Amino acid sequence: MDALPCQGCRGLCCGPVPVTNKELRAIRKLLGAMPRRRRIALEQQERFFGTCMFYDQDSDKCGIHSARPDVCRAFGHSSNLVCFRRPESATGSPWQASSDPAGILSVDFTWKDF
Ligand code: SF4
Ligand code: SF4
Repeated sequence: MDALPCQGCRGLCCGPVPVTNKELRAIRKLLGAMPRRRRIALEQQERFFGTCMFYDQDSDKCGIHSARPDVCRAFGHSSNLVCFRRPESATGSPWQASSDPAGILSVDFTWKDF
């Protein structure tokens, strides 16, 4: 899978995303294992309105990368989730949720839920 040119985008495509219960469990597990100082620093970052609560402004990347939701993994690679900076990478079959979302990250679930 081609890497997308995300460095320098400053989380442009990282907004509220749907999240399933299974994905919430994975995120909780990752945050539970994260050093407390690191978690607090990530939580307290100031973000633009609408930017995902887990986007790491300091390192310009996802702050929960290994536990990011499926839609984030598919973004830029599925034909219905096209990255405008590299549309030619969106060659995969259309993304479909594996199960009904439990809600929207940053809207229905915020830091206090983790
Ligand atoms: S997927 Fe595309 S829009 Fe999103 S951060 Fe990467 S290059 Fe930027
Ligand atoms: S979970 Fe990570 S990849 Fe997904 S929108 Fe948030 S910061 Fe971006």
